[in-house]
Amino acid sequence: MASKNYEELAQILSLTPMTQGTPFKKACAAGLFDGYPVAIAWGARQKQASLMILLRFKKGSLKVAPALLAERLATSAQILAAMEKKKLGGAERKAIAAATDGILFHWDYSFRPPKPEQAAALVRALIGAIKEIASPIEAACEVCGTTSMAELCSVNHTLLNVCSGCRQRMGEEDRRALEEYEGRPSNPLLGTAAGVGAAVGTALLWGGVAYSMHRIFLWGGILIGLAIAWSVNKGMGKVNLYGRGLTVVLTVAAVMGGDFFFMWLSAADELNESVTLDLASRLAPHFLAIEFSDSSGWLSLLFGVLGAVFILYANRPPSIKRDFVPIGRAAA
Ligand SMILES: [Zn+2]
Repeated sequence: MASKNYEELAQILSLTPMTQGTPFKKACAAGLFDGYPVAIAWGARQKQASLMILLRFKKGSLKVAPALLAERLATSAQILAAMEKKKLGGAERKAIAAATDGILFHWDYSFRPPKPEQAAALVRALIGAIKEIASPIEAACEVCGTTSMAELCSVNHTLLNVCSGCRQRMGEEDRRALEEYEGRPSNPLLGTAAGVGAAVGTALLWGGVAYSMHRIFLWGGILIGLAIAWSVNKGMGKVNLYGRGLTVVLTVAAVMGGDFFFMWLSAADELNESVTLDLASRLAPHFLAIEFSDSSGWLSLLFGVLGAVFILYANRPPSIKRDFVPIGRAAA
């Protein structure tokens, strides 16, 4: 069987071919190269096919600002030569993520993926450029600094040289954080009250503002969703499925309620009537037809739900358990 790109690359650079728990969630070549942890995979960024290179250096050893490092890499003659390019594309340039302990570099391609030899040349050029301004990692554990048996591991989205003691302790911390969250009480009643309050408040505000400014600010829907989700979260303490469902329902109700309020005020204006329940009841049968007569009704609902989902996502339980996958000591 012909070996795969990442396997061939691993062989060329004396790295380890990895398939499980890699930083990219897909097969890659990973290990230490000249003391710098690297991982390389043929994959995709959004929908763009790309050779992805993660390169780590010693934390705090970078002699320039990360943004400057990215700029240097993007314009390095050796790197461009390895990629056989005159200059990097705008998207590739933007995709360089530089931090104080490593970089993520992309080589985008459309038809022919870079060959393993080409990928190896790029890794060498990148490390050559990094060497001038950042140090390789040391043998000691990067977390505790003791010179016990540290081992290069793939941890979630990065590579870390870490000892078994630290791995155990961090795993324990993750477990405890999750337990602490699970053990937190949930208060559906208070969450419902807070959510309904926020829904009524934002609906009146949304309708009132639209009426007084004579226009509807669609993105205001996002603020409604954010406000309601935040209130439900605060009230409940720990949000469960009920809280999530309630948030979405309340957001839809608040956006539509606000639109109704706006139409009610506008109708009173136009018909020269006062804002009465009688007018509301005459308006009600036509409301849905007017609301969804153009795209703005749908759009404001969509924005509202987006806002709510954002908060729910930001407030999700700490399920991120760090998984340590040892890469082994590849020959440097
Ligand atoms: Zn340690």
